[in-house]
Amino acid sequence: MRTPFFCLSLLAAALSVSAPANAEPRRAGHVIVIGVDGLSPDGVIKAETPVLDDMMAKGSWSLHARGVLPTTSGANWASIITGAGPEQHGVTSNDWQVGEFNFPTSVTGSGGFFPSIFQVLTDQNPELEIGSIYNWDGFGNLYDHRFVDYDVHGADEDRTTDLAVDYIKARRPDFLFVHLDHVDHAGHADGHGTPHYYEAVTKADALIGRIRQATVEAGIAEDTVILVTSDHGGVGKGHGGESLAELEIPWIVYGEGVKPGVELDLPINTFDTGATVAWLLGADIPYAWLGRPVRPILQGEAMPAQAYRTSSFYAPPSILPAGVGNTPPGGLFIDGAAQMRVRNPNAVGEVR
Ligand SMILES: [Zn+2]
Repeated sequence: MRTPFFCLSLLAAALSVSAPANAEPRRAGHVIVIGVDGLSPDGVIKAETPVLDDMMAKGSWSLHARGVLPTTSGANWASIITGAGPEQHGVTSNDWQVGEFNFPTSVTGSGGFFPSIFQVLTDQNPELEIGSIYNWDGFGNLYDHRFVDYDVHGADEDRTTDLAVDYIKARRPDFLFVHLDHVDHAGHADGHGTPHYYEAVTKADALIGRIRQATVEAGIAEDTVILVTSDHGGVGKGHGGESLAELEIPWIVYGEGVKPGVELDLPINTFDTGATVAWLLGADIPYAWLGRPVRPILQGEAMPAQAYRTSSFYAPPSILPAGVGNTPPGGLFIDGAAQMRVRNPNAVGEVR
């Protein structure tokens, strides 16, 4: 599976290639997307996450970005890397395989796939160094590997991070996608919102910190944008449904030129991720993509005029005993007197 590293002189050659005339300007030397499977906004808020907290303080972020339906991994990772939704790229479930589909892609990329960010970048600049390192082997089913220079499946989250760190330091990739899977495992095993789940988020935070540190050691931190996001959240021990807890995802951007400490008051969808990567790396966004670059992340870029404000929601009433795993809040199976409490966690409103 492993592709040998080539000598750094190839990298120097790649960097010396100038962009073709009237192309989009390049806004970042390197872009790294870290996708943490099953990482919910709740996990970012409630778990100990010193690295993400620092990236949010120094970067631009939203904890109300949205994935696509169904809230499964395959459909959402495909949307992130193709800048489009399942209706266009055709990945409607984790069982999807190229050539075995319910309906064909809306446009033809290569090898039966909808055009991915890997293909779009390579088509427009074959010299780019592109990596994809993923803990969930199903991620490897979603795109044509011919457009990725270093394509490898990591055995677990630690090994996946090791591979990413080594690759960043050896090749200083123009674009790297890293996928970590263990937070999703914790959600399925013990439930979203459980101590085990939050511990997994804290571990992901540390692994993200190692990847960020690798850019420092590679000497590219001053020229790198890191984007942390996920495919879906979860409810109980699962996801795939249509609740906000499953649909909402964190979207955190950090690095050179990124506005510091900005909560993005914008509707952001997961398919904007691929478009933002293309925009940062100076590639034209294909008309077939639905995603838009989230331009206000960068200094000097204005917020768009929005005729309609983004939605905000009051937190639901908290019902105690709290739900754990698949046990709903207030659910009791006890031999004796039971007590249930309902609280309003908001500053306004009352419980009736
Ligand atoms: Zn899952």
